Amino acid sequence: MNNSTQNGNRSLNLKAVKGIVLDIDGTLLRGSEPLPGLIGFFDFLRQNKIAFIVGSNNSTRTTAQYQQKLAKSGAPIDLDNVLTSAVATGAYLKREFPDGGNAYIIGKPSLAQAVREAGLEIFEDASQPVDVVVAGGDDELSYTKLKHATLLLQKGARFIGTNPDVVYPTEEGLIPETGTTLAALQAASGVEPVIIGKPQRYLFDTAMQKMGTTHEETAMLGDRLETDILGGQRAGLRTILVATGVDNERTAADKNIHPDLIVRDLCELTQRWQTALDQP
Ligand SMILES: [Mg+2]
Repeated sequence: MNNSTQNGNRSLNLKAVKGIVLDIDGTLLRGSEPLPGLIGFFDFLRQNKIAFIVGSNNSTRTTAQYQQKLAKSGAPIDLDNVLTSAVATGAYLKREFPDGGNAYIIGKPSLAQAVREAGLEIFEDASQPVDVVVAGGDDELSYTKLKHATLLLQKGARFIGTNPDVVYPTEEGLIPETGTTLAALQAASGVEPVIIGKPQRYLFDTAMQKMGTTHEETAMLGDRLETDILGGQRAGLRTILVATGVDNERTAADKNIHPDLIVRDLCELTQRWQTALDQP
């Protein structure tokens, strides 16, 4: 399918990659610490005019908050280079409801902002029907919110989840995330949500739209096989696993999920990519 590189068992032609979607945790940063080669990697992308989008499944932060986080880690990027599942949800809503509509949301201000920018009005309770219930991460989730959303889904509202992650790692341990809320609402309403974030395709679709690249020209770089790599493959992208987070060459073999390329860290990816570009 692709041209072979000198690295026999893998087959990614990096020269053909014009845009790349970047996972954050375990790929660019660990906590708030930059991973090895981060700054050189961004320099390389800019020098070679390779488009990039930093994409996060987290819907509770704004793109500006991610921009600040990366800037603090020594990697300043433009706001336009960040995509959250909340923003991708907004893009999806805009496409599905071109003439506007009404929504009930469970989520933080970052999600409310994206829904409003998509042209939908947000209702505060279940007193009148809405077109869509949108659920994202919400650390102020309450019984009342679950009740409103359930009643609205029973009345026929469409159901959208920003991301499928059931838990989120913190210092205290794994705490409930959007997927837990979606499971509760699905149990109560019998309605299955459309999910926007990884490993579903919509976040990738929005990223490609922003970069102006085709599937063949776009790669996904991430540290998790089940979300980043499987999601990238499902969306028709080339996939690169970086072994600075959750998964590596061994777990890829164990899980039988095969990225187009596996690199030790961002330094190795930059080197390989530079070598590919230097080929005549
Ligand atoms: Mg990650």
